[in-house]
Amino acid sequence: MKNFHSNSLVSCAGFLATIKKKPFVKFPSILLSQRIMATNTKNSSDNKQLFEKSDRIAHFKQDVWSIFTPLAQQLKAANLGQGFMDFPPPDFIIEAATRAINNRNDHQYSHPKGRVNLKSALAKSYSPLFNRTLDPDLEILPTAGANEGLYAIFAAFVNPGDEVILIEPFFDQYIANITMNGGVPVFVPLRPQGDTNKIMSSKDWKLDINELRSKLTSKSKIIVFNTPHNPVGKVFSIEEMAEINKLAEEFNLIIISDEVYDRLYYEPDVHERIANLPGAWERTITVGSGGKTFGTTGWRIGWLIGPKHLIGAALSAQTRIVFCVNTPLQESLAIAFDLAEKHDYFKNMIEEYTRRREKLMKALTDIGLPYTIPQGSYFILANTAKVKVPENYPYPDVILQRPRDFKVCYWMAKEIGVVAIPPSEFYCEENAHLAENFIRLAFCKTDKTLDEAAKNLQKLKKYIEK
Ligand code: PMP
Repeated sequence: MKNFHSNSLVSCAGFLATIKKKPFVKFPSILLSQRIMATNTKNSSDNKQLFEKSDRIAHFKQDVWSIFTPLAQQLKAANLGQGFMDFPPPDFIIEAATRAINNRNDHQYSHPKGRVNLKSALAKSYSPLFNRTLDPDLEILPTAGANEGLYAIFAAFVNPGDEVILIEPFFDQYIANITMNGGVPVFVPLRPQGDTNKIMSSKDWKLDINELRSKLTSKSKIIVFNTPHNPVGKVFSIEEMAEINKLAEEFNLIIISDEVYDRLYYEPDVHERIANLPGAWERTITVGSGGKTFGTTGWRIGWLIGPKHLIGAALSAQTRIVFCVNTPLQESLAIAFDLAEKHDYFKNMIEEYTRRREKLMKALTDIGLPYTIPQGSYFILANTAKVKVPENYPYPDVILQRPRDFKVCYWMAKEIGVVAIPPSEFYCEENAHLAENFIRLAFCKTDKTLDEAAKNLQKLKKYIEK
């Protein structure tokens, strides 16, 4: 992934040249038959070339998850790395899935538009949050996780050369989703205001709206916006969103609002939706995740909410990507949404995560490691600038070529017994230095894991300069 950015202009040019060589054309049947004759002449000596990765994926580096999650398992370290829960979903959600699985009629393909029950449950839950009566048929689309929903939107709207604005740090998956569809990512970082060597709020990570404006061109097509934010924990204010919305209007951009953590915000902050701003609905597609909402990241169900001209296009793409989404688990989520209110689930979830957040913040305060207090989501960025990692530590190659934060995370996993994620993965190569002093810690974990992490973090104390 980072290769792509390393010399982003050169790589972008290479990528676009490839696309020019092989334009996206329709194949009339006569052309297809000629193509079959041509390929019949190939023999096995061509295999070296045959098995070469496509230009679409050849530049991908090993992703951060497949480095640090296996490392955590291997070392049996306290895993605050990847953002999955290490506790089961509440019983009523498991029971919802059991009920759905036991229904013998719900095990076949669904309509690509998604299950009527889930769409109705989403419309019921989200209509008040969007201040409108959502049309479950045309304005809501269940997806195979937020990930696939995002991919479907890019496939639906990005033509080769279209520019997509990403606010750094960003969820790493966006990049591949954009470039695989021929788009060109353009980056604008959030910039922390004030002294990051002190405890600060995620509010203090600001988007410079003039810097954003300077990145917009006639090729800009989409801006991806994420609140509550991974990994900063920022919950954007209405005023901040209004500025982004104004630019989206001026430059005629589609807004992808990634709101997978929409149910996780901490007092006194509340989650607001950019789609609710004046004029924003028509250009905004909001992305949700059943995994984040119900602690079921392995179910791989998400959803898109937006006007019918955006949802319809995403549906066209999604039908040709996965055709349809997992039938029984869509039904399970429909039941889960219906039962959530009865169990006061969303309120309880915020209370539980507030407690987990306090626990991790206390552990960091105790050892004197500064951090950003998250207003939402379940991540804390800690600042490791003062941690003196021993020089000449034996890093494997996969870590050696990466920025400082990869080394800190690897060393911490091995020597301190706590796994964190290096956030430079969420920046383009040019801006990776902005993240090299930070580590991302996830607190969607049991008390046992958080307590073990707190205990192990004590070992870090002696490496922190006063
Ligand atoms: N967007 C963001 C900001 C995320 O953090 C994640 C998951 N880590 C996703 C999208 C993907 O969500 P899902 O698991 O539903 O595909």
